[in-house]
Amino acid sequence: MAIATVNPSTGKTEMVIEAHTPAQVQERIGEAAAAAKALCRTTYAQRAGWMRAAADLLDDESANLGRLITVEMGKPLAQAIAEVAKSARAMRFYADNAESFLADVPLEDPAEVGASRAWTRYEPLGVVLAVMPWNYPLWQVIRFAAPALMAGNAGLLKHASNVPQAAIFLDTLFERAGFPKGSFRTLLIGGAEVGAVIADPRVKAVTLTGSEPAGRSVAAIAGDHIKKTVLELGGSDPFIVLPSADIQQAAATAVRARINNNGQSCIAGKRFIVHAEVYDAFAAEFARRMSELRVGDPLLPGTEVGPLATESGRRELIELVEDAQAKGATILAGGTVPDGDGWFYPPTVIADLPCDARLVQEEAFGPVACLYRAHDNEHALRLANQTTFGLSSAVWTNDPQEQDYFIAHLEAGAVFVNGMTVSYQELPFGGIKRSGFGRELAAVGQREFCNLKTVWAV
Ligand code: NAP
Repeated sequence: MAIATVNPSTGKTEMVIEAHTPAQVQERIGEAAAAAKALCRTTYAQRAGWMRAAADLLDDESANLGRLITVEMGKPLAQAIAEVAKSARAMRFYADNAESFLADVPLEDPAEVGASRAWTRYEPLGVVLAVMPWNYPLWQVIRFAAPALMAGNAGLLKHASNVPQAAIFLDTLFERAGFPKGSFRTLLIGGAEVGAVIADPRVKAVTLTGSEPAGRSVAAIAGDHIKKTVLELGGSDPFIVLPSADIQQAAATAVRARINNNGQSCIAGKRFIVHAEVYDAFAAEFARRMSELRVGDPLLPGTEVGPLATESGRRELIELVEDAQAKGATILAGGTVPDGDGWFYPPTVIADLPCDARLVQEEAFGPVACLYRAHDNEHALRLANQTTFGLSSAVWTNDPQEQDYFIAHLEAGAVFVNGMTVSYQELPFGGIKRSGFGRELAAVGQREFCNLKTVWAV
């Protein structure tokens, strides 16, 4: 894939970027390795100062950065600016908390293990490679970089090929804020070049956020070289609505859960599983709200849904909807590709999906919602757990026993009750099954790329 900014609203190529040569890649890995040595000798206070300065840069440059994100991947401008603010908050969060998250933990009774002192400490691993997607071009990278750098690691970024300007911005951000040269470096390379970087002995670990095939490939190479991996892959999250829920509120939230980021979010509600008693009421309200959304130029205020980020992404979505239609599904809203430039796709609601429709198992990465009618709670749970994914989930009910039942039995990395899944810096984030392994965010996300060293001493 060419490394280029192609405006998804127009289909016009705005900028083509030269990929780094193998020699440039080597030089950048070398800079990161040198920075990692320097960083592990710095104090938390020093790193926190630089991290806060980097957050200030994001705040100062938020308007331009937001526009850049929207032009590269098409999300509505207000959402792009909110992404910048969220990233800055996470940087300050790790600046404030890294030292306590990574503090030594003494064993209460060292005599039990024959020691006079015993404790665990967290140490940085060195250079960590991040392979990142385009859907949150800033947030996905910062939620890796802020904890990793605050722990004393250095970062290398292989960003998605369609967001090179975001990648270039990130290349200099941390150095501009005061971090040692090379603490964070972007590699402008394609997916095929990633294996050699993982294999490089100077690179100690890798994290990937993206699709299942990319995750499989990266994890296989990392496994071959016995290197730590975190995988944040796809999702097809269930959003379950039961009779005791506030149906109006559930439908309004379901729309936001599905169309945020133009429907291109791993933790979007994608499968709406509704109890038969309230199915018709929910379906009518949900379809009405979805069809009333304002689709258009993401730079214009008031636009709620912009284009899909790539032409190939829209083609895949069209194929999934056509497959469902051909197999007998019913379209309750949207479903027709508009004429004109750009990769727009209307908010779409599909019901009556037969078991063999691809949408039953595959992720719809765009504003397409699948509706399922559940006969009872057990059926709702079976439908929710029937995919190979296990990222997050939502359940709407005011019955405490039903809440406990779904919290206990949903196969997912998270359950949100009477709400929609959102990533919070304070809460661990990640999936099970084919949604990946490992966690990001909170304290546990920062510890993923540390050596937990046990110390025993007499
Ligand atoms: P993608 O095609 O897998 O790309 C993600 C990153 O991996 C890009 O940098 C891409 O580079 C690179 N890549 C692709 N194939 C590779 C390979 N064989 N070896 C090494 N690197 C490779 O995914 P996407 O289409 O950008 O993103 C959408 C997917 O990401 C969805 O499935 C979504 O659910 C998932 N996602 C998950 C989370 C989460 O936290 N769980 C968050 C956001 C998105 P190129 O661009 O150069 O191909």
